[in-house]
Amino acid sequence: MIVKDVIIIGGGSTGCGIARDLALRGVSHCLIEKNDFAAGATGACHGLLHSGGRYVVSDPAAAAECIAENRILRKIGRKCVERTDGLFIRLPGDSKKYRDAFLKSCERLGIETEVLSPTRALELVPSLNPALEEAVRVPDCSIDPFRLCMLNIVTSQARGGEILTHHEVIDIIKERGRCVGVRAREKLSSSIKEIRGKAIVNATGAWAQRIARLSGSSLPMTLSKGSLVVTNHRLSNMVINRLRPPSDGDIIVPNEAVCLAGTTSVAVDDPDNMDVTAGEVEIVAREAASMVPEFERVRLIRTYAGVRPLLHAASEDGRQISRNFQIIDHTNGLFSIIGGKLSTYRLMAEKLCDAIMKEFGLKTACATAEKPLEGQEELRGYPLSKRLESLKDIVCECELVSRSEVERVIQRINPKHIGDIQHRTRLGMGPCQGGFCTYRALGIMQETGKMPPEESMHILKEFLQRRFKGVRPALWGDQLREEQLIEYIYLGILSMESH
Ligand SMILES: Cc1cc2nc3c(=O)[nH]c(=O)nc-3n(C[C@H](O)[C@H](O)[C@H](O)COP(=O)(O)OP(=O)(O)OC[C@H]3O[C@@H](n4cnc5c(N)ncnc54)[C@H](O)[C@@H]3O)c2cc1C
Repeated sequence: MIVKDVIIIGGGSTGCGIARDLALRGVSHCLIEKNDFAAGATGACHGLLHSGGRYVVSDPAAAAECIAENRILRKIGRKCVERTDGLFIRLPGDSKKYRDAFLKSCERLGIETEVLSPTRALELVPSLNPALEEAVRVPDCSIDPFRLCMLNIVTSQARGGEILTHHEVIDIIKERGRCVGVRAREKLSSSIKEIRGKAIVNATGAWAQRIARLSGSSLPMTLSKGSLVVTNHRLSNMVINRLRPPSDGDIIVPNEAVCLAGTTSVAVDDPDNMDVTAGEVEIVAREAASMVPEFERVRLIRTYAGVRPLLHAASEDGRQISRNFQIIDHTNGLFSIIGGKLSTYRLMAEKLCDAIMKEFGLKTACATAEKPLEGQEELRGYPLSKRLESLKDIVCECELVSRSEVERVIQRINPKHIGDIQHRTRLGMGPCQGGFCTYRALGIMQETGKMPPEESMHILKEFLQRRFKGVRPALWGDQLREEQLIEYIYLGILSMESH
């Protein structure tokens, strides 16, 4: 049995941020995640570190949180934040009234803006629609959610935090009406562990209602699915937003070698509903093309979706719901945290930990805004071209991941899934989406004796199924040709069908 002061359920940005905050306040804790880190909305998001611009007119309180946290994260997380800046572009027909309200509210909240002529905007991003009428520059950035989670966990582990990934919480233990622990099932072996704690934090995002129910509580939530597409190369070095009220497909974010465009907003009941429809791909691609016309021709290499855990609201339209977060003290030892954004994860963690400190009668203050994230020294920085410095033994050509990086992860964490390597190195996250490098990484795992051949074939098959699910909704043109090549490699050369 594991005994800690606090049990955190969920290893998304919120849960990982809470683990770091508690570690810095000297509070013992155990984090339990049913998959790998960033397996929920965190890993399925746009990767936009908001300047606040997107919410500045509709939700100024959320915008104020975004700009404050944007400044903090640029300072403490240099190796997860690419300082791209962003442009809000106004196209013919977009309201000038909205533009005026946007500038006024940015000024009031202290969000730096610079109004640019079409010529200047096109100098900065030549792929923009030349019909644009003006652009407003803001301090939007691109952020790597996987790195962010891992780096928060470095601090937790260095100070004795217990981290259980691939463990699913299936039960909450109650004694005399209070939540005193959880039972978690290890995914591979199905063995059950009991973890005891004085407080339990429910940071399971879209799944939070399920966890609350295990404790006999309920939680007011609205779930909104958002779908995104990934392009086969980087079409812009800046974040591009449409200067209009938040709507479908109006953000493009550069992310290392590719761009992410999205999203949609569809109300769902089931947090596991991550299916992307061809209709959603069409909407996103069309709207993105109105800002960057090359979207009409570019190869879309994958689609994916995540479910936003929003505060419950009467409105069915997810975009009308505040992006503020809420902490619910169920007054039985369980605390839930829902809503918010990746951009504000640190603030969310701070407020949640303040509530825990109050419960424990402790006074140690939050230190997460001042200290740089630990573990960044080992990571290479931006831009991607810096990676060209170490071109030896490349395993993943798209993201320039070397064999020694993969070996280091294998030695350090003894991975059970290919995703464990991908999330820590970016292997397979570039244009080929793992088509050419996944079997190499599994080969290295076999060579190091960490995985028997039968197990790696099973993992490879599972990976191919998952990959195809993401590729299928965008399967036309050149991407269809590439998929046929990948199919020949796996069925023809590697004889996958016979395994
Ligand atoms: C499509 C989309 C785009 C977005 N884009 C942005 C953006 O660009 N910028 C931004 O700031 N925000 C963005 N957001 C919002 C942001 O992603 C989320 O607010 C944030 O990531 C939520 O993090 P979380 O840790 O609370 O939840 P999650 O990341 O969902 O983490 C919850 C975790 O709990 C785990 N879990 C669930 N049940 C159990 C269990 N029983 N036992 C153990 N573990 C369990 C899950 O596996 C998951 O990893 C976007 C959201 C979506 C859906």
